[in-house]
Amino acid sequence: MLLTITTTHRPATDLGYLLYKNPARVHTRSLAFGRAHVFYAEATEERCTAALLLDVDPVGLVRRGPGERSLHDYVNDRPYVASSFLSVAIADAFGTALAGTSRERPELVDKPIPLSAHLPALPSRGGEGLIRRLFEPLGYVVFATRHPLDPAFPAWGDSRYHSVTLEATRPLRELLANLYVLIPVLDDEKHYWVGEAEIEKLLRRGDGWLAVHPERELIVQRYLVRQRPLTREALARLADDDPDPELTETVHDAEEAAVEERLNLNEQRLGAVLSVLRASGAKRVLDLGCGEGRLVRALLDDPSFERIVGLDVSHRALSVAAERLHLDRMPERRRARVELIHGSLTYRDERLSGFEAAAVVEVVEHLETERLPAFERVLFEHAAPGVVVLTTPNAEYNVRFETLPAGRHRHADHRFEWTRGEFRAWAAGVAERHGYHVRFLPVGQEDPELGPPTQMAVFER
Ligand code: SAH
Repeated sequence: MLLTITTTHRPATDLGYLLYKNPARVHTRSLAFGRAHVFYAEATEERCTAALLLDVDPVGLVRRGPGERSLHDYVNDRPYVASSFLSVAIADAFGTALAGTSRERPELVDKPIPLSAHLPALPSRGGEGLIRRLFEPLGYVVFATRHPLDPAFPAWGDSRYHSVTLEATRPLRELLANLYVLIPVLDDEKHYWVGEAEIEKLLRRGDGWLAVHPERELIVQRYLVRQRPLTREALARLADDDPDPELTETVHDAEEAAVEERLNLNEQRLGAVLSVLRASGAKRVLDLGCGEGRLVRALLDDPSFERIVGLDVSHRALSVAAERLHLDRMPERRRARVELIHGSLTYRDERLSGFEAAAVVEVVEHLETERLPAFERVLFEHAAPGVVVLTTPNAEYNVRFETLPAGRHRHADHRFEWTRGEFRAWAAGVAERHGYHVRFLPVGQEDPELGPPTQMAVFER
């Protein structure tokens, strides 16, 4: 069983410092179930490939294990495929890197570097589709080829083993954590007893990505080998966790409302967004960053919208929305048209495909500027609805809000507020990169010098 990790970061040999393994030597470690070797297939300035070769000793395992033995215990796929044995070996051989420490290159620990991981035999219960569903939302480019059961007998069909390469620019420790968790999930098996302690491991390794992963339920269930109480506990703890410090739970609250109250801007905004969505003729609509569900409710009240999905990163906002909409006692026909889902706009999400229109109302300014390119791709490249209606504050107008001190944002959680020029430049770039046409509309009472309080862009493909 083999895992190789390649980087083209310069100098690529820094990989040795990050992994804590000198490229000049072969490193061998004894594990309970065999031996793990780390060596380098290449180590130059331009490219460096570290290999983790795991030698599982099935006979030793059987001898040590209790109970009756069958032929299957001696002859099986375990020595040859990526499984929970590999996760244990990763944690053992690359523990320092996984924990995010490096004595020699501390500045590289959190730095995204170009990485490629290759697994020649990755079993997947759920096929190539599941491999993609697990890794693509995390931003990996996935190359997968399925191995036939026997190349000499094509009629036998395919096996559940895949040769897989994952490519991404990200910190090495994130790649290791993703592999550590997701390999046994794909294999859908564990070689050891799974108890409470496994929850801690999962939450630690899943820190920062698992809570917002669209397949988190499947991941948690399989990782905890479908033990219901463990799964329930882990999912509950994930839900309480803030998935990402950037994404603090921000229900669009009193603070911002107070500042904007005079204008009743909320309603004007809602009306403006609704009228663009109606005019678009869309039947299936996304409300991204739906907050407490004001727009979702307005959309539900208009029968021309047949399917409405509200997404938000905040569990709190979603539960307020569910309550305000009375989801639990909604008539069946109405209930069937609406869904509230948890997710982050900075991760690619299959659930966002197939919609004719999307609204993103007062959300972009809550994203870190470094995450805007990810958001842009998630929405305009992958989800790619025909129409996108996006609103954001007009920073120039802020001087008109009497209660707002100069230089302050309208809401503490806003990461930025754009002038008209900044917003237009960003939106024009997005449109240009993804084949959309964009126009701008004012929302609220327009000031002759400063423009409208809210700015709105309508993108059409
Ligand atoms: N659209 C709503 C809410 C706007 S407040 C309205 O107009 O009333 C901004 C919302 O964006 C919050 O509910 C916040 O939880 C959500 N949000 C912030 N970052 C997000 C992200 N990365 N993915 C999805 N939603 C996010």
